[in-house]
Amino acid sequence: MLRLAIQSKGRLNEESTALLREIGIDIDDSRRKFLAQAPNFPLELLYMRDDDIPQVVASGTAALGIVGLNEVEERGFDVEIVKKLGFGACRISLAVPKSADYDGPQWFAGKRIATSYPKILRKWLDENGIQAQIEVITGSVEIAPAADIADAIFDIVSSGGTLVSNGLREVEKVFFSEAVLISNGRLAEEDRQTLDEMLFRIESAMVSRRKKYILMNIPQASVEEATRILPAMRSPTVMPLAAEGWCSLHSVVEESELWDKIRLLKAIGAEGILVLNIDKIIP
Ligand code: ATP
Ligand code: MG
Repeated sequence: MLRLAIQSKGRLNEESTALLREIGIDIDDSRRKFLAQAPNFPLELLYMRDDDIPQVVASGTAALGIVGLNEVEERGFDVEIVKKLGFGACRISLAVPKSADYDGPQWFAGKRIATSYPKILRKWLDENGIQAQIEVITGSVEIAPAADIADAIFDIVSSGGTLVSNGLREVEKVFFSEAVLISNGRLAEEDRQTLDEMLFRIESAMVSRRKKYILMNIPQASVEEATRILPAMRSPTVMPLAAEGWCSLHSVVEESELWDKIRLLKAIGAEGILVLNIDKIIP
């Protein structure tokens, strides 16, 4: 049975289980145990702290894991990144007290830097030829400068709000992370097929997340122009309306391009534009 390790609670737990549900794998949260079998898919879930996921995958206790790239990099176990999952985005940055006269990486020479990511920090310091002292802290790193444990910190940032409220300023963005699916690359044939099926479903779920279904009424005379604006998977669907000279046009657009396309379509006479979420796209 293919076993997947996911975070038991914390920032990645909810989106990891949401992704599994989205690809049709049932998860029973109410009776959550250390190990749980999906009732409708040959997958077993192993719930654990995110720190331990790279290790259990490398050792083979679980063949797969969902974890932040930051943990994969820091732990240094031999695992493959199978797929970037597009959630849990964050970065690990160096931050200094707001009042510090920061003038570039050399500022850190001889300073004490508090972090839970000593390995990633050491690599950056070495690459930049900087000698600094690393203070490993597992708890709230951001209070270290105020507590005089360190002169600066190297910590996870997503919006930057925590830094600001602790009187710190982000000065170097060192490592960019998101949740990834990892594997130890030692899958039995049957498990490999299960993984392929999961990847196929994840791909279509991720593609459909970025796209919207759009439909509108459009004058017959504008259909050709509208087809150029909305190329769709093959071409848009065009259906005649009861009203003479009008059509209904359906297509799929990238969310990032949606408002630009709507502006162009309105300019050629589109009316009654509807934009709908797409559940799945199977190319
Ligand atoms: P655990 O109890 O499992 O060890 P944790 O406290 O180490 O949990 P979380 O805070 O739940 O970890 O974060 C898990 C992962 O979420 C991080 O390793 C990182 O990849 C990602 N992440 C995304 N945004 C943030 C953020 N703002 N702060 C911390 N982690 C973030
Ligand atoms: Mg952790």
